[in-house]
Formats: sequence, structure tokens, C-alpha cells
Amino acid sequence: MMMIILLLLLLIIIIIIIIIISHIAGDIKGATEPKIVAAQDQAICTNYFENKILKEETESKCRLCKQHEETTDHLTSGCPILAKNEYLMRHDKFYTRLHYSICKALDTETTDKWYIHTHTQASV
Ligand SMILES: [Zn+2]
Repeated sequence: MMMIILLLLLLIIIIIIIIIISHIAGDIKGATEPKIVAAQDQAICTNYFENKILKEETESKCRLCKQHEETTDHLTSGCPILAKNEYLMRHDKFYTRLHYSICKALDTETTDKWYIHTHTQASV
């Protein structure tokens, strides 16, 4: 039993690595990559960035919830307004792609397009 769990974990890790490599290798459009890097470096033009870094007279609070500083971290994972739908959609989209990759790796029947894949389409 322990061996099966370890093999499944290894398979999942391999699939995640394949997904990451496929994104790096060309699934991401050229214009998108600099935006991702800017977001990682906290250098996208959020209200907080404009107020604290660029010293502009902009409100530093989030323009959606108006409760917290509008930082990249807040927008990507901490905004209570975005938490209601956007974070859930991002979560579901990621795990749809992961499930699709697992189905492909296990050679189970599925669609050709990962983004229309559902777990009920795969016959296990
Ligand atoms: Zn917010």
C-alpha cells in the first residue's frame, strides 16, 4: 500500500514538472512572461506600488475591497472580493489541467483539449 502511494506521489510530481516545463517551453505567450516576472518582483502597477514606490497621489488601498493595501500578493491571493469567484476558478482550472495530464499519462480516454476536460469524461 505504501509503495502505491509513493508511486502515485511520484507520478503527480512528474506531471507537475511536465506542466511547468510545458508552460516554460512555449505555452505562455511572449507578452505574458514579462508580466509574470513583474508580478513575482512586486513591480506591477498596483495602487500600493503607485502610492509607495512611485510616490503618486493614489489611494494605496485595493480598488475592489477597499480594505487592504493593493499589493500583488493581495491581488493574487488575499482579496476577499476575488476570493468569492476568481481564486476558485483559478484553482479549478489548475486542477482540471492536472487531472487531464494524469489521465493522459495513465492513457485513459479523455478529450483532446484539456480546458474542456472533466473528471467524468475519463474512464478509469
Ligand atoms: Zn482587495
